[in-house]
Amino acid sequence: MRVTTAFNRILSLPGASVASVTFTPEAVVVGLRRRSRRLTCPCGWSTGATYDRSTRRWRHLDLGACRLVLEAEIRRLDCLACGRVRTEQVPWARPGARHSRDFEDVIAWLAQRVDKTTITTLLRCSWEAVRNIVGRVVAEHIDDSRLDGLYRIGVDEVSYRKGHRYLTVVADHDRQGRVVWAGEGKGAKTLNAFYDTLGDERIARLEAVSLDMGGAYKNATDERAPDARQCVDPFHLIKLANGAIDKTRRWSWNQHRALGVKRAAWVKRTRWALVKDPDALDDDQWEIIRELKRRDSVLYRCWQLKEALRDLYRLRHPNQAPEHLDWWLTWACRSRIPAFVALARTVRANRERILAAIELELSNSKLEGINSKIRLINHRGYGHHSAAAIIAMIYLCSGGITITLPTQR
Ligand SMILES: [Zn+2]
Repeated sequence: MRVTTAFNRILSLPGASVASVTFTPEAVVVGLRRRSRRLTCPCGWSTGATYDRSTRRWRHLDLGACRLVLEAEIRRLDCLACGRVRTEQVPWARPGARHSRDFEDVIAWLAQRVDKTTITTLLRCSWEAVRNIVGRVVAEHIDDSRLDGLYRIGVDEVSYRKGHRYLTVVADHDRQGRVVWAGEGKGAKTLNAFYDTLGDERIARLEAVSLDMGGAYKNATDERAPDARQCVDPFHLIKLANGAIDKTRRWSWNQHRALGVKRAAWVKRTRWALVKDPDALDDDQWEIIRELKRRDSVLYRCWQLKEALRDLYRLRHPNQAPEHLDWWLTWACRSRIPAFVALARTVRANRERILAAIELELSNSKLEGINSKIRLINHRGYGHHSAAAIIAMIYLCSGGITITLPTQR
């Protein structure tokens, strides 16, 4: 078998055949010959007339331990649709790319699953290359149609760069909390940019928007989507309750510190037992809860208050929710625990929006899942880059994008 035939079979590249194979010290260089004479613009327009030509290389997947590059003549065309001279589109690579489509798909598939260093080491490429590839692959998969058919959305802010920068993320409650939009910033201005992209026609079809309890997203939604029902996502309510526990715990820790270091250290260890879902508590953590109860600790009452608030989402009949919430508000107001008295004020101000979430069954929080996914993206080393890079990663990992590997085609 001729070496060009062998490489043709191994690479099976679309729209081209192997014309030459050269072994250089740096890489195996595979020369390609195009099957079609016609030139296609990235916009789709095609012509038989070449404007000029040059040679370009694309990095392809390694051949064992050897680097492999594809080399081909690439032409420019004078596109009548674009009204300017553009570089033709080749079948084996995305426009503007210096890596083949197969190489880029492997990178994107890995970026959905593993940390940054694993990718750059395994595929011997720079982080910058990975970032550009993720951007290109996402741009190819995400189009405007994802914003069609949105009825119930959730809006949330997420932090990146160790909490110094914020993004606003919009998720679709009806499609497993898939992220449909993300933008830089956490204010009304950012959410307005989403509503601008969505447009009046699609805004009119929105039935419900779940939000946090802050004012910024509420104001933007009041103004731009007045007909959509606003709900407070349960995730945000429980987060606030856990915040109130933390505040009280710090206060208690300071009290105990006056009594001795050992007692204070014990209070510090109570945190996870207090904030975790009781179903997820281990034996030691249950023992902490029982110990707090025996001591008649203020922290035990905090835990009871938090769990009673969570009961709101565990009621057998959702129509009991208003009564349960009002009972809770009375209890919290009289608790004489400052953090919970303050929480009760916030909850009272958001009463209708909290109950709306239960009525519309937006209670199993999809946003919580997105938040932990974004923490994971940060943790894998993608978090300390530009907003554009992290937004592309969020779309790649939470936007419902399926990457097909070259071996799966
Ligand atoms: Zn064009």
